[in-house]
Amino acid sequence: MSVTVRFAPSPTGQIHIGNARTALFNWLFAKKAGGRFVLRFDDTDQERSRREYADQIEADLSWLGIKPDLVVRQSERFALYDRAVEKLKEAGLLYPCYETAEELELRRKIRLSRRLPPVYGREALKLTEEEKARFEAEGRKPHWRFLLPNFDDDPFAPQRTEIKWNDIVRGQQTVDLASMSDPVLVREDGTFLYTLPSVVDDIELGITHIIRGDDHVTNTGAQIALFQALGAEAPAFGHHNLLTTATGEGLSKRTGSLSIASLRETGVEPMAVASLAVLIGTSEAVTACRDMDELASRFDPASSSKSAAKFDPAELQMLSRSLIHSMPFEEARPRLQELGIKGRQAEAFWNVVRGNIDKVPDAAFWWKVVREGPERPALSAEDGAFVNAALDLLPPEPWDRGTFAAWTDRVKAKTGRKGRALFKPLRLALTGLEAGPELADLLPLIGREGVLSRRP
Ligand code: GLU
Repeated sequence: MSVTVRFAPSPTGQIHIGNARTALFNWLFAKKAGGRFVLRFDDTDQERSRREYADQIEADLSWLGIKPDLVVRQSERFALYDRAVEKLKEAGLLYPCYETAEELELRRKIRLSRRLPPVYGREALKLTEEEKARFEAEGRKPHWRFLLPNFDDDPFAPQRTEIKWNDIVRGQQTVDLASMSDPVLVREDGTFLYTLPSVVDDIELGITHIIRGDDHVTNTGAQIALFQALGAEAPAFGHHNLLTTATGEGLSKRTGSLSIASLRETGVEPMAVASLAVLIGTSEAVTACRDMDELASRFDPASSSKSAAKFDPAELQMLSRSLIHSMPFEEARPRLQELGIKGRQAEAFWNVVRGNIDKVPDAAFWWKVVREGPERPALSAEDGAFVNAALDLLPPEPWDRGTFAAWTDRVKAKTGRKGRALFKPLRLALTGLEAGPELADLLPLIGREGVLSRRP
């Protein structure tokens, strides 16, 4: 079967850099295998899920360079989940439970005090039809648990039952089904917890590889059992390490910290975000990749470390700058056009300024300086007189990169100024700033007329 992966966010907030890591791991994995990428919105929780968040997530992924082959929404697929529920009930694998949260907590404490593992003891399986009818008459509604296949004949005597998988990221993994409670699949109010819809969709959509954060490792055992109970073969799994903030806190969709949208607003390059999100916490060196092909060639899920990795926004800015400083004009061109930077000079201009900016839109500032001159620079009377004298010595056009040296040599000879005393007032008069791109490069872009118009 051809490789099919999925990224399955619940649209309850903005995705953050940690979610981007999961999405990109899937995207790059599919890309390398020539496979498909499904974007699945886990929006069965209709109270907390919002269409705006889903749309924002699609836009964020697209900005990062991820274009799903298919988008599905769990809120449109309830009929499939209902059918799976019926199937499990008929097979006796989904059973009704009437305990309240308080009752369960009490039982858990009792088990712990008897040094028994604090798992659900399947007491509900012992209920008679009369007892169930009495609960119903009292107005209690059942929640439904999946009977894990961790026993021979007697569900009250679970046996060690190892579920093994060769994790794409973590290598050989084993979980014991006897160490877990039967998971609740359907709540009292009939709504689904994440497990059942997720497994049903993974089957239905032909998912071959599930790649997600390592906070899901323990879910995998029960999920593999559920795949089997529904008559399907479980896909391959991979669980990558999670990202934290620079101070080690977990990331959350709700707090909006390090959201892709907020990073994007800082003007950072999407490939800087993608490169860092993928390469951080792996044995690969963290450098900025120019495009997804390059990142795919550096991506190896098995090179991820097992511990959480700290995400440092300062590192992101550095990677972003390195991409901009070497960005070919052809790549920058459409974005420069949007900023009004176009025409004969645009390419030469870009090659001159890219090394001096932190984000592409900053080029607009330098375009204005080159075309219109700076705001009135603060020059002392003495420096103003010097600049005026220097402008009288400008060589005739055509100008090239050597013009500046030829000009300033004459100025030096005539005025006796040199070094900082010579260059600083000229730079201030021409650009309004004390630092920036090489004046030798700027001069031909500004042109003789432009330079003369900057007379103090
Ligand atoms: N909606 C789940 C989550 O965001 C998906 C987990 C999974 O990939 O199976 O945690």
